[in-house]
Amino acid sequence: MVLLDVFFTMYNGFIDVSFLITGIIFSGVLFYVSIISILEKEYRAFRVSLILSSVIIIPFLIIFFFDFQYKIVVISIIILLIFIALIVLFFPYRPKLKEGFQIPKDKHDERDIMFSRNELKPETEKYDSYYHKNPEKKELDDKFREKPGLLSSGSSMYQPYSYASAHANLEVIEALKPIVNGPVSENKIKVDPFKISSYIKTWCKKLGAHSVGITELKGYHVYSHKGRRELYGKEIKNKHKYAIAITIEMDNEMIRTAPKGPVVMESTQQYLNSGTIALQVAYFIRSLGYEARAHIDGNYEVICPLIARDAGLGEIGRMGLLMTPELGPRVRIAAITTDIPLVLDFSKEFSSAIDFCTICKKCADICPSRSIAFEERGEINGVLRWQINSESCFTYWCTSGTDCGRCMAVCPYSHPDNFMHNFIRWGIKNSYIFRRFALYMDDLFYGRRPKSGNLPNWIDM
Ligand code: SF4
Ligand code: SF4
Repeated sequence: MVLLDVFFTMYNGFIDVSFLITGIIFSGVLFYVSIISILEKEYRAFRVSLILSSVIIIPFLIIFFFDFQYKIVVISIIILLIFIALIVLFFPYRPKLKEGFQIPKDKHDERDIMFSRNELKPETEKYDSYYHKNPEKKELDDKFREKPGLLSSGSSMYQPYSYASAHANLEVIEALKPIVNGPVSENKIKVDPFKISSYIKTWCKKLGAHSVGITELKGYHVYSHKGRRELYGKEIKNKHKYAIAITIEMDNEMIRTAPKGPVVMESTQQYLNSGTIALQVAYFIRSLGYEARAHIDGNYEVICPLIARDAGLGEIGRMGLLMTPELGPRVRIAAITTDIPLVLDFSKEFSSAIDFCTICKKCADICPSRSIAFEERGEINGVLRWQINSESCFTYWCTSGTDCGRCMAVCPYSHPDNFMHNFIRWGIKNSYIFRRFALYMDDLFYGRRPKSGNLPNWIDM
């Protein structure tokens, strides 16, 4: 009897203290979120987490300090419910995509992409020929031609410094375009595929890449015809065996200002940075005696997001961009195709990203031109996917003068690469229930339609 009394006294004390500690942990975690949020200049998330941190501790304190009948029973039940809720929330449930891996049936023609169509000048042979073959696109394209245009001083987001910086980036990229390919050294060095693959990946990361992956180059990775500049209409015959995809992070503070000037400044900067790395790697491989071609902004033969997906770097999401596990769509991609022997990275399953995109729709909600579908994925070219309305999106770009990026800025996957957000992304990846919870929390902390961030002071002078 005495032993039982001692046990119950100890149990009561343990449960009482555990209950208080649980409240302190919840409050502490939310306080930590508020600190991270203020450092990230996410003021709404800061306010919400600080308020929640202060409020959530109150019921725990009240119950801890006041005695009432059946107190221990009530506390035990609450602790049990919290425990069950956490198990349910984090229970690893990762259903595989029923439809399996998606492979496009036909090759894409680069002449159909908006940048190629934007380069067509009325009363030229290319222009007449393109719209003769694609009359349904003429009316759509006339709409963007009526607008001031990308980086135009008459556009709605015109800001002289950021536009001039973007121009500067594009000029440098222009200078790099002719050197994507070059002579191969006659002195071929025998390489070990494992070692050279590891060397290239590590070097790329040292040069600033966020992730690097290797895949076999497939027919559907390669455009059927060139769509830009002097090689317009030329059939592409890239017979390389391998493709290396490189992603590079876009600065979060700059992207959060979308669709203002800094976003185009940042995207062109990272096109340049990713392109420079691709060029370096291609030069390196050629100097070892193997063919290699860099694929950089404005001079692609391949579709970089598809290569990156197949190289295991992410999945194509609702906005039609590569969604990487750590940075979501907040990356730029470049690629190298080559015949140097390499070890392949196999495509990983990112069914969690597809499931999250299915429920999220935040990008579709925020898109100023309503270019992102709210519906389920549909079959396009033999592939189950979402497709954005690239004409209306590009028309908005030509109105704003920037490449907009509102969708990218609000995507819950785009939060910075740090412990707090990585923990949430880990939960999103692992748990079906957590994905629903995380989306609700993202809306609560950051807003369903977050405001566009202010220009950094150093730009807004
Ligand atoms: S905002 Fe949501 S729906 Fe859109 S790409 Fe990101 S996760 Fe998917
Ligand atoms: S870039 Fe802007 S206009 Fe285009 S899909 Fe994204 S949010 Fe819409």
